[in-house]
Amino acid sequence: HRDLHSFPTRRSSDLTFTIVKPDAVRRNAVGDIIEQFEKNGFRILAMKMLQISKHQAEQFYAVHASRPFFNTLTDFMSSGPIVVLALEKENAIADLRKIMGATDPSKADEGTIRKKWATNIEHNAIHGSDAEDTARFELSYFFAGYELAK
Ligand code: UDP
Ligand code: MG
Repeated sequence: HRDLHSFPTRRSSDLTFTIVKPDAVRRNAVGDIIEQFEKNGFRILAMKMLQISKHQAEQFYAVHASRPFFNTLTDFMSSGPIVVLALEKENAIADLRKIMGATDPSKADEGTIRKKWATNIEHNAIHGSDAEDTARFELSYFFAGYELAK
């Protein structure tokens, strides 16, 4: 059985999804963050800039619906343009989380994207999928299969 969003020619663990968040776009950090992806061996399979609505932010972050930060998070994520990317690399999901750094930038390691660009635990510059099932959902939320490079 293969569902429509499983990208069957690729190993799920080699595919991840990321967002350059509105704070990072406002700070002109898009180029620097994408450079980090490429320097660390990620291949860009798809990329686009767009602004999402509050409703779309709520759908994307539905797993966090009951968390106290859900309302401010979805306001923030819909507050300006974002850049969404599909990335490919061996062990992409875990390796992206590594170069992103901790959710709270005060706990992020030196040299990570969040250490450099995040303002606080909410305005933290970048999103990265945390597991194969969430990566699959998040990729399919923003990209159709035909939009991904071979
Ligand atoms: N977030 C927040 N307050 C918190 C925890 C998270 O505003 O106490 C925001 C932050 O933007 C984070 C997002 O909610 O990136 C999703 O939270 P998660 O725990 O999944 O962190 P991530 O996977 O992004 O590191
Ligand atoms: Mg998360």
